[in-house]
Amino acid sequence: METTNCPICGSERSAPYRVVHDLVLRHEGEFRLVRCEDCSLVYLNPRPTRDEIGRYYEGGYDNFRYDPDQQPSPSLVRRTERTRRLLAAFRGYPTDEPPASKLWSLPAYLAFCARSRNFIYPSFRREGRLLDVGCGAGKFLAEMRDLGWDVLGTDISPDAVAACRARGLDVIEGELSDAGLPGSGFDVVTLRHSLEHTHDPLGTLREVRRVLKPGGEVIIEVPNIAGLGARVFGECWFALEPPRHLVHFTPRTLASSVEAAGLQLRRLRFKSSGFVIARSLELYAREKASGLAGMFNRRVFCRNADVVLRWLRLSDEMIAFCVKSEA
Ligand SMILES: [Zn+2]
Repeated sequence: METTNCPICGSERSAPYRVVHDLVLRHEGEFRLVRCEDCSLVYLNPRPTRDEIGRYYEGGYDNFRYDPDQQPSPSLVRRTERTRRLLAAFRGYPTDEPPASKLWSLPAYLAFCARSRNFIYPSFRREGRLLDVGCGAGKFLAEMRDLGWDVLGTDISPDAVAACRARGLDVIEGELSDAGLPGSGFDVVTLRHSLEHTHDPLGTLREVRRVLKPGGEVIIEVPNIAGLGARVFGECWFALEPPRHLVHFTPRTLASSVEAAGLQLRRLRFKSSGFVIARSLELYAREKASGLAGMFNRRVFCRNADVVLRWLRLSDEMIAFCVKSEA
């Protein structure tokens, strides 16, 4: 373990925030979250070193797995096809088929836009290059490749890299800053639930800015520690994930972090996937032995919670859309 200053502003001054345990993969130990007294960032301190962190992903971390023999379910195939048609009709994505009529597809497109999942599809650019930082087993990267992007991924996990290569994806093992990518090479850079895992989030964001083409877009998805889930579930909030999550953002600290890296925040959107709520309820039921958590109809609850929490800006997850600023 190592102690650290604030990984965004460098301040040494922090106050205790919460003592937490690894309730998900159940690694031993007590972990301390602190809040920076200067920029308010919540971060793990002390934290595992870069050499130690790998061991905390052992024991069933799902995001690095890929089974080439597993066939997608018929409903997933239908959804993927529908998404592809809507992206072709409304967002300029390429298609082999004659384009669907915008008028007839409009109700389906409005329904698609109402679900927060649609946020992850950037506007299409011909011959556009997309970099996914912390790409895990490559599910998103493979989807973007199949939609017409020229894709590259990075991940520090050898298991994740092996899973990506099994899908035929081009991926670099290691930290983004060690990847040696040329400057101004990408139209879009995505960090989907990866920034909170990095030891140097500011350095990562600066490197993202460097590899981005002028006018390029950055899409950063992270948990929201100021959301309702974190308040209601406390230590059982699934997205705390100590000690794999080294930093936690609020809408304000996410905005100040991207700006500190020279990125311009264009829009911040909120999202509750249902997954975080469902997993938090499981942890809560187990840890607090409460039958109450089992009373929720998860499907109904999660779907409606997404809409309400987004409107209140209290969702479990948030997505920052940024561009490379001129200065
Ligand atoms: Zn700070």
